[in-house]
Amino acid sequence: MDLFFESSFIYGLVAALIVIVLYFYFKIINTSSKSVEQKIAKAKEMGLYEPVSLHPVVDTDICIGSGACISACPEQDILGITNGKAATINASRCVGHGACFHACPIEAISLVMGTEKRGVELPHVSEKYESNVPGVYIAGELGGMGLIKNAVEQGKQALENLSAQIPENHSAEYDVIIIGAGPAGIAASLAAKMKNLKSLTIEQDSLGGTVYSFPRAKVVMTSPMELPFEGKIKLRETSKSELLKLWTGILTRNNISISENEKVNSVVKNNGLFQVKTSQREITSDKILLAIGRRGSPRKLGVRGEKKEKVAYKLLEPELIHNSNVLVVGGGDSAIESALLLVEENNNVTLSYRGDSFSRIKEKNFDKISEAEKSGNVKIILGSTIKEIFDDTVELNILETNSTQSIANDLVYIFAGGELPNKFLESVGITITKKFGETVLKH
Ligand SMILES: Cc1cc2nc3c(=O)[nH]c(=O)nc-3n(C[C@H](O)[C@H](O)[C@H](O)COP(=O)(O)OP(=O)(O)OC[C@H]3O[C@@H](n4cnc5c(N)ncnc54)[C@H](O)[C@@H]3O)c2cc1C
Ligand code: SF4
Repeated sequence: MDLFFESSFIYGLVAALIVIVLYFYFKIINTSSKSVEQKIAKAKEMGLYEPVSLHPVVDTDICIGSGACISACPEQDILGITNGKAATINASRCVGHGACFHACPIEAISLVMGTEKRGVELPHVSEKYESNVPGVYIAGELGGMGLIKNAVEQGKQALENLSAQIPENHSAEYDVIIIGAGPAGIAASLAAKMKNLKSLTIEQDSLGGTVYSFPRAKVVMTSPMELPFEGKIKLRETSKSELLKLWTGILTRNNISISENEKVNSVVKNNGLFQVKTSQREITSDKILLAIGRRGSPRKLGVRGEKKEKVAYKLLEPELIHNSNVLVVGGGDSAIESALLLVEENNNVTLSYRGDSFSRIKEKNFDKISEAEKSGNVKIILGSTIKEIFDDTVELNILETNSTQSIANDLVYIFAGGELPNKFLESVGITITKKFGETVLKH
């Protein structure tokens, strides 16, 4: 009898424990589901829910809610778990590098370009990477596929294809001009060298492309990349500076110099040759490889004094700037994150934005900048634009009162968005089509 009571007691205890564990398990799931649903509602309110380009789509029929995609994604709150399944939150912030795609243990994620509602404009490219303009090739993210290793692969393949079409005798100065020195342009430059082509690579900014302006140091490489002269390079996770060092080293070892800070303004075919007009010269080439990515060129304000050396369009090394009077212009996340970084380095920061309030920014950034303003660490001047930039001051237009205000200034950072490459592509004659929810990566 004793034994009967004893074992009933133990069974009862185990059952009670199971019930308690299940209760807390479902409570945690429920709470985290609720918080993800709140985040989704907030993302919808702020216009961040609808994807703008490449983004993950979860097959909820097979998703087991492992959360591997969320841990793998280096960006924040793009994916979350709700009701035991992965779902997108701030899908418009997805940068399309596909870490989630590779991390999912049951292959429930595919990467899709645009949505049924919101199309994405992409240039026409054949499977040989040639555009509808014979002799003009396209590689890398410009063609719609994100990821460093894809850009590298496409840069090499496009170069391989175009080199087979270069006639033995032509009267152009170059066999190929490569426009853009991101991962696609770098790989193509190496491939051109390997083929002994007379090639020139032109970059409007600095070597490295989009990677150079990543707001974070961490770079995820989902699989190894294979570079001409170097072979397979296995980097799972690296830093922006390491990757840039690697590329610079490879280019230097192979005597390839890239013409930086030179922007290509037009490409026109004339008498069978491409005439390329840059910010510095006019040159001719037999073939063109466009590896210009999709981020475009930073938008300039067109104000007097903007060409001064103290004006920049991205903040690269905030840790090197101290005790300066800095003006940050813009109302988006890049402007706010830069202003906050400069505050941390003891600078006297003024943030000027033409709008009346910040919208479409991360909640975290809104809270941090409001806090910094309250504590007097940053001065925010809403409803203002730059009138003129002088050596030691900047003159602002104050829109509401139609007056001007002069502030002491050592450095100006302008974050006014970018001009997308579409206008440039159309001027070259490239057809652009809108993709509405086209799957570009599927298991
Ligand atoms: C925030 C962020 C994080 C990311 N993280 C990762 C990651 O961790 N791992 C990963 O694999 N991928 C990541 N990606 C994606 C990756 O950066 C891109 O897929 C890749 O850089 C595309 O390479 P690309 O050579 O095609 O274009 P880009 O890197 O965009 O390079 C294009 C270059 O062309 C230049 N250019 C443009 N127009 C002209 C012109 N008219 N004249 C001269 N030059 C011109 C530009 O200045 C630029 O340097 C991330 C992207 C972003 C935005
Ligand atoms: S593609 Fe990259 S940024 Fe987009 S959700 Fe996946 S891991 Fe995150």
